[in-house]
Amino acid sequence: MEFSDRIMKLASDAERELAPIFADIDKVSFVNTKKVMDAFKEHRVSDAVFAPTSGYGYDDRGREVLDAVWADVMDAEAAFVRHSIVNGTQALTIGLFGLLRPGDIMFSIAGKPYDTLDEVIGNSGEAGNGSLRDFGVDYRQADLFSDGSFDKEAIKRVLDAEGDRVKVIFIQRSKGYLNRKTLSVDAIGEIIAFVRPLCPNAYVVVDNCYGEFTEEREPTAVGADMIIGSLIKNPGGGMAESGGYIAGTARAVELASYRLTSVGCGLEVGATLGQTKSMYKGLFYAPHTTAQALKTAHLAAYIFGSRGLGFDVEPEWNEKRYDIIQSVITHSPEGLCAICRGIQAGSPIDSFVTPEPWEMPGYSDKVIMAAGAFTQGSSIELSADGPLREPYTAYLQGGLTYESGRIGILSAAAEVEKSLEL
Ligand SMILES: *Cc1c(COP(=O)(O)O)cnc(C)c1O
Repeated sequence: MEFSDRIMKLASDAERELAPIFADIDKVSFVNTKKVMDAFKEHRVSDAVFAPTSGYGYDDRGREVLDAVWADVMDAEAAFVRHSIVNGTQALTIGLFGLLRPGDIMFSIAGKPYDTLDEVIGNSGEAGNGSLRDFGVDYRQADLFSDGSFDKEAIKRVLDAEGDRVKVIFIQRSKGYLNRKTLSVDAIGEIIAFVRPLCPNAYVVVDNCYGEFTEEREPTAVGADMIIGSLIKNPGGGMAESGGYIAGTARAVELASYRLTSVGCGLEVGATLGQTKSMYKGLFYAPHTTAQALKTAHLAAYIFGSRGLGFDVEPEWNEKRYDIIQSVITHSPEGLCAICRGIQAGSPIDSFVTPEPWEMPGYSDKVIMAAGAFTQGSSIELSADGPLREPYTAYLQGGLTYESGRIGILSAAAEVEKSLEL
């Protein structure tokens, strides 16, 4: 790979200016690594817990200890982590179906949830498929203001009118595929303090995807009853082969566990089939890997933003981050596709293939995805994707190592420079 002098200069300018920000990211990584290691120590993690189980998986010590470690790291009363949860969407589905009953309301207070939840909620897809709506669960939504803050008046209106039926108050921490701001843990804590007295019996559920370990605390530390995420994002550290987790209050996690397996069986079953070690190792790496991804995102913002190739970017290169996603708003299908081609070409795996837009299950528009990852679809590994719709935003995320992330970003910049003749 050869990069133009202009791009090489941009990268070195970026790194000089980003040095203090990178130092702060390292501090967060240190705090979170210590939290993980303290939990390993507290729960006496030894190589015996890596032993696989099969069949029912009764008395799987590795599984039980990992759940306890995970709960500690997330400042939660309880947690479960399973390699058998296929993705973040399934983990969210387990959590929502675990808590919601016919006649209840799910109230999303941070705008529209992630695209793949539309069919789960019943806001799209065929009636009769078994969505929450099919089971008599209603849905309400309050949008965020354009500056990313909560619309407290709109939230209060719904809670005043129907608060007795609201069982889940749902907050998506990360922007996902929307042009909005990602919420900080502080902002989540503040809004929980606001809604709690208005609706004391509801569970506050946070879609925590992409947020883990970007800050020193998770939403469970500021009052969330349940947080949910995917192991092929931040908390799997690039090591977990697949999986998802739920952490939260003892009762909320117990209810979710009955949806994970069955009412009664809960967390007492579930063979680990030899996947335990990679989940422990992933958690061990996760704070560091997340830091690598954050640094890669800052670099991307600098290179694609106003100091570099001139796109609108969110967040800006010098803004504090609460997730690992970097949006680059390209305003053209060509721009979006060029970024994805460049990321793919700058990946360790499948660097020779060319990504094309496709109809991905669960998404309403065509999506283009660049992913040259060791683990299929892993987005803690450097990846870029975006739906083919206005304003053609590329969502970049991940980077197992800053060095490889940097190569990927420079490759994307080179492809954009060439394709758009910038
Ligand atoms: C990734 C993600 C999900 C879940 O997506 P999967 O592809 O099913 O893992 C949900 N919410 C947000 C905000 C996400 O980023």
